[in-house]
Amino acid sequence: MTSTSSNRSGSTRPASSAADAPPVGPAKNPEAEPVSRDPRPNLLDFTLKELREFLRPWVDRPFRAKQIFRALHHRRVTDLQGVTELSLSMRQDLEMHVRVEMPSLVRSQRSADGTVKGLFELEDGASIEAVDIPDGRRRTFCISSQAGCPLGCKFCVTGFWGAGRDLTPGEIVSQVYTLLGQEDTREVHETGDLPGINVVFMGMGEPLLNAGAVRTSVELLAETIAPRRMTLSTIGILPALEEMISWPVRPNLAISLHAPDDARRTKIMPVNRTHPLRDLMALLHRFPLAKGRQITFEYILIRDFNDQPEAARALVRLVRGLPAKVNLIPINPDPVLGDEMKPPAPSTVLAFQQELKQRGVFTTIRRQRGDEVSGACGQLRAFARDPRGFRTPANL
Ligand code: SF4
Repeated sequence: MTSTSSNRSGSTRPASSAADAPPVGPAKNPEAEPVSRDPRPNLLDFTLKELREFLRPWVDRPFRAKQIFRALHHRRVTDLQGVTELSLSMRQDLEMHVRVEMPSLVRSQRSADGTVKGLFELEDGASIEAVDIPDGRRRTFCISSQAGCPLGCKFCVTGFWGAGRDLTPGEIVSQVYTLLGQEDTREVHETGDLPGINVVFMGMGEPLLNAGAVRTSVELLAETIAPRRMTLSTIGILPALEEMISWPVRPNLAISLHAPDDARRTKIMPVNRTHPLRDLMALLHRFPLAKGRQITFEYILIRDFNDQPEAARALVRLVRGLPAKVNLIPINPDPVLGDEMKPPAPSTVLAFQQELKQRGVFTTIRRQRGDEVSGACGQLRAFARDPRGFRTPANL
């Protein structure tokens, strides 16, 4: 067995894993670690290579690891007893040492446009949300990487409620596997491939503050979902973005930009003080992209703040020279965000888009989906969680 490290959850992963990469961004809250009374590692947290090493003492043949891995990630079994490739006695033996643990889906809300928002409870009682957005034969899963977010962007409901712990790789991929089970997916279950499924890391949390687990979960999901159909959206945690260049499997990159200059960006995104636009854009200019891929710049439009024609022209100058696509998102108002966070009039949104298009920048306007279940962009907050210890309007 390879050398291992344990956290408070009792989860055990090989020391060489990406999860052991040095932390980036703000200091971690010690309360951010999962708390579990079960010391058995969760098999969903392991890559195939790690699983081979880890299971060696307990299986009779090396190929057992691959059988288990395929059962978990291709057939998406939810417990060890479902790995019927193994004998009953081997399954019973293994259950003494390892487990398969998935977050519980405790509530599922469907909006009129078919968008489904799922509320998941994690084993230590933390909660997260993920959204399933159907579009014809395609489905996009917007998943969470943290049970909250410490970065406090002023337009974001998740940020308003403050930090929550990092998710494990198994907790991240389980969101996809559970949402798949919400619909009739027998066809894709049987083939082991998931045509028409897209995954975006745009739910609760900043993925690059939990880069090790997100990197592992991308590798796990890539078993059945092509990397070109996965997108990681980040505000640009630069050391982690730099490391992402050498990830073995890289999803598409989306940058939460939201302002065309440092002055405005710092006002709504405190992280811009640590990672200013100049440094972010310099890194993006040398970020390797697969042939034909672009960097998506997410730009939330806020009335009278960043929606003027001069802001559009500054945005064009900022992204010039990059294979860029701009996605405009009229802000979703929410009572906790205050009166300043209002969307521009539709005509202003169209005029902003026109300024960009005229200057050769490919630009889309994001259609709002799922807003009556608060499943739209920036609205995920895990309503059911106990907010004690998190920021509240009184102590902001
Ligand atoms: S926008 Fe992203 S980084 Fe900012 S607070 Fe929300 S979840 Fe965190």
